[in-house]
Amino acid sequence: MGAAVVDLRHYVRDIPDFPKPGILFKDITPLLSSPVAFAASIDQFAQKFQGRGINLIAAAEARGFIFGAPLAIQMNVGFVPIRKPGKLPHATIAVAYQLEYGVDRLEVHTDAFLPGQRVLLIDDVLATGGTMRACADLVESTGATVVAAAFLLELGFLGGRAKLEPREVVSLISY
Ligand code: AMP
Repeated sequence: MGAAVVDLRHYVRDIPDFPKPGILFKDITPLLSSPVAFAASIDQFAQKFQGRGINLIAAAEARGFIFGAPLAIQMNVGFVPIRKPGKLPHATIAVAYQLEYGVDRLEVHTDAFLPGQRVLLIDDVLATGGTMRACADLVESTGATVVAAAFLLELGFLGGRAKLEPREVVSLISY
């Protein structure tokens, strides 16, 4: 009810030159420390994806987990952790993706998704889109469908949305 009208922008703090000069870091910890704002963000995600036939929420560590887990409970669907290499105990599949310097990998369990399942991907920030693109490729390689990629906030000037095409991209806040 009241939660839907919370302006989430007021709970994101700009930190200049973190983690290195020239980067304006969007710090979501004020939002996380407000039970009203945090709950409102989860409500807003849930409202946007109600009725879309979603079977699973998936998110990459670490900040994706913060939003993905409560959203999964609210939407009454399962949660799949997408992890850095070597963290998952069972058989895994992996995707490699380009970082600014070098390559990184993300992994999921081979039995995390079934073909045809409808998956909502979520993360805190859409920047260049490289991380989310890797997650989407990983999910789709299993035969599951990415319904959309959802973000608390999007840095539009970095063009991440284009990297995720033709998938649906939803952001609660755009800069
Ligand atoms: P991306 O460039 O879209 O692959 O971003 C990778 C990850 O870094 C995202 O999941 C964000 O959590 C984080 N990130 C990138 N840029 C920023 C930023 N300016 N402020 C806060 N987090 C960021």
